[in-house]
Amino acid sequence: MMIANMTAEPITEPSDVPAPMQELVGLDRDELAAIMVAIGEPEGRSTLRAKQLWHWMYHHGARDFSLMTSLGGPLREKLAETCAVGRPGISREQISTDGTRKWLMRFDDNQEAESVYIPEDDRGAVCISSQVGCTLSCKFCHTGTQRLVRNLTPTEIVGQFMVARDSCGEWPSPSGERMLSNIVMMGMGEPLYNFDNVAKALRIIMDQEGIAISRRRITLSTAGVVPMMERCGAELGVSLAVSLHAVRDDLRDMLVPLNRKYPIAELLDACRKYPGANNARRITFEYVMLKGVNDSTADAHELTRLLADIPAKVNLIPFNAWPGTDFECSSNNAIYRFAEIVNNAGFSAPVRAPRGRDILAACGQLKSASIKLSRRERDARSADADGAGLAASAATS
Ligand code: SF4
Repeated sequence: MMIANMTAEPITEPSDVPAPMQELVGLDRDELAAIMVAIGEPEGRSTLRAKQLWHWMYHHGARDFSLMTSLGGPLREKLAETCAVGRPGISREQISTDGTRKWLMRFDDNQEAESVYIPEDDRGAVCISSQVGCTLSCKFCHTGTQRLVRNLTPTEIVGQFMVARDSCGEWPSPSGERMLSNIVMMGMGEPLYNFDNVAKALRIIMDQEGIAISRRRITLSTAGVVPMMERCGAELGVSLAVSLHAVRDDLRDMLVPLNRKYPIAELLDACRKYPGANNARRITFEYVMLKGVNDSTADAHELTRLLADIPAKVNLIPFNAWPGTDFECSSNNAIYRFAEIVNNAGFSAPVRAPRGRDILAACGQLKSASIKLSRRERDARSADADGAGLAASAATS
C-alpha cells in the first residue's frame, strides 16, 4: 500500500517557547486562576479571567494571547511575557491511504509517543497515548517491546488531542457534528498506571466550556489493573475497554503478563462492579485474533460463558503484524467462525476493520524510538548538548 504523506524531518518543535515560561495547557481552572493572581490580577476577578482564558484556549484553540480580546490589553501583555499555550512538537506525520493519520509527537525533553486519528464517515476517534513506552510487555503488542520511559503529563495528554484538532482544522469546538468526535485512551502505555495525569487531562477534555467531548464518547482501555478500575468509573465515568485476548489464565499469563497479578476471575469481577456499566453502556472486551493461539471454537464458547453475566460487547481485532513478531493473524474463516459463536450467544462481536496498517498505526502497532536512559547516560547527553550549544554559539559569534 502507498503511504500518502510521510516526513522524516520534524514538522514542528515542541511548544517553541523558552523554558521559564509557564505552560498553561494541562492546568485546571483553579491553577489558571492562581496564575492570574500571580501576574497581578485582583483575586476577585481571577476566576472570571481564568474562565475567559479557558474558553480561548480550549474552545477556540487560540495560542496567541493577542487574539484573546476579552482579556484586556495589559493582561494579554502580561500573559505573553510569562506564559505560553503550547503543543507537543510533531516529529513525523503520516497519512494512510484509508485516511488514518498518525503523529509521532515530541515533548520538551525530546521523548516521543504516537497518537492516531481514525476517521469514519461522519465522525472519528483519536487514539491517545498515556505513557512513553509501557511496563506491561503484552506479547502481541509492538509498544510492549519498548520499556517504559516515563508517564505523560496532563499537558502532554491534552496536547495530543489539541494537535489532532489543529491538524483537522476543528476549532472552535463545534457544537454539533464533529469529525474528532471520540477519544480512545488506547495508544502507548497503560492509562491506569498513570491515572492521576490521565484523569486530570480527561477532565479538561470533558469540560463543557472547552473541548467538550462527553464522557460517553471517551473510552479508556486497560490491560486489567484491577485495583484502579472502580476509581476510574466512579471519578471519570468514561467507558471501559478491557484487553482480554485469552480465556484461560495459562494463556493470558503469557499474552498479557499482568494476568499473573490480576487473573481473569478477578478482572471479570472488577468488570461486573464497574460503575456505570449497564446494557446501554457495555464494557468492551478487546480480543486480538492470533492464529492457532486463541482462536478456536472452544475459546469462543468459553468466552461467552465468562461474559455471560456482564454487560459486554466484544471487539475482535485481526492481529496487525509488526517487525519481529512471531504471531500471525487468524484466518478469515477462523475469525468469522469465532464471531458467529459469540454473536449467537447474544453479544455484539464486530470484527474490527484494520485501519492504518500501511503506516503501522493499527491496534498494537504503535512504538516510538524513545529509550530510558540511566542517570549517567542522561548526564553525558546533556554535557554533549552543552558542548554542541557552545560550539554553535562560537560558530555564530
Ligand atoms: S497492549 Fe497496552 S498495556 Fe499491553 S504492552 Fe501494549 S500498550 Fe502496554
